[in-house]
Amino acid sequence: MKQIMADYYYKLDSATKTDNEKVAWCSSVGPAEILRSLGFNVYFPENHSAMLGASRVATDLIPYANAVGYSPEICSYLTSDIGAYLKKFTPLSKAYEGIKSIPKPDVLVFNTNQCRDVQDWMRFYSKEFKAPLLGVYTFRNINEINETHINSMAKQFEDLIKPLEKISGNTFNIKELRKVLSLSKKCSDLWKKVLDTASKVPSPLTFFDGTIQMGPAVVLRGTQQAVDYYKLLLSELEERIRNNEGAIDEECFRLYWDGMPMWGRLRAHSELFARQKACVVASTYCNSWIFTDFDENNPFESMAKAYTKLFIGRADEAKEDYLKKMINFFKVDGIIFHDSKTCSNNTNSRYGMPQRLEEELGLPSLVVNGDLNDLRCLSDEQFKTNVDAFIEQLEGNK
Ligand code: SF4
Repeated sequence: MKQIMADYYYKLDSATKTDNEKVAWCSSVGPAEILRSLGFNVYFPENHSAMLGASRVATDLIPYANAVGYSPEICSYLTSDIGAYLKKFTPLSKAYEGIKSIPKPDVLVFNTNQCRDVQDWMRFYSKEFKAPLLGVYTFRNINEINETHINSMAKQFEDLIKPLEKISGNTFNIKELRKVLSLSKKCSDLWKKVLDTASKVPSPLTFFDGTIQMGPAVVLRGTQQAVDYYKLLLSELEERIRNNEGAIDEECFRLYWDGMPMWGRLRAHSELFARQKACVVASTYCNSWIFTDFDENNPFESMAKAYTKLFIGRADEAKEDYLKKMINFFKVDGIIFHDSKTCSNNTNSRYGMPQRLEEELGLPSLVVNGDLNDLRCLSDEQFKTNVDAFIEQLEGNK
């Protein structure tokens, strides 16, 4: 993992320094496959923000973005990343010797399937770096995805080609796109198999492991490296299953995590749940990089379908249907909803969903308040007290 992430960032860094290679910035569930097929090196600012969160520097950087007009109430990925830029700081320099700054974009491409924040985020950098901004606008809050949605999205993806050809200096080749898409699909299928190993009892991995292991699925999908990585990881997990080796000792409770991770508290949360013999087996977050619908034989329509189907962009009915399947598949005893202060898009507890699921399935749930990157929005004491009480409730139920 360390090596392939290092190779990825060094490659981006060297691409920035030469005229021959181009860098495209892309939102994490944007059309990375089109960009790769045109020869771009693809950088995902959300991965950079997650590094800011995990290294617990995000909270101190957010005020710099607030000072230039970005509210503390909006996405703390956005505010911490822009804050870091304004402070000329990047965790990449600490992680990878010789890298002095984030890669400079030749173009920035967003997809609003996850939220509008990615659009504003990219717009800031487009202005800063005087680089063109392109985007696709996905239908959001939809229950059934129909032909109108797919056709519109496929057309929007196709319309990206011409301007991207100009910027990249390369001619679009459908064979190349099919090749990249096929690799992306392989990566996605393997990533799904990796996450599905958590359906075994005891589970060989936790949600917290997943947040680390998902790196290549986010930044390197569409490459052979990501495929090779997940083959290896899957074989290790299968070996753990054969040896009946759980991710935590004496797994007693199995939980599902809905919403964003709290990056600055991954270790603390993983240890807290493990002490309680509770394994957080799965999440909608890590599953967001599963694109089952990719099909190299039908590239634009299948990308349109896969990127529109994304859980985060769907209506509550579709989300609840999905969650019911997950709860059943992963044999879950309870569900934790993270009410993330600065990401309403990936917070599902505000319109009665926990209550509806509890009523229908008898499944206990806990809503925890916090945030993905802004540690001022969470209380560690409160979190621990709530989790302890929830586990007691589950014990009572057993
Ligand atoms: S989905 Fe949430 S965390 Fe991700 S970029 Fe959008 S607002 Fe930020």
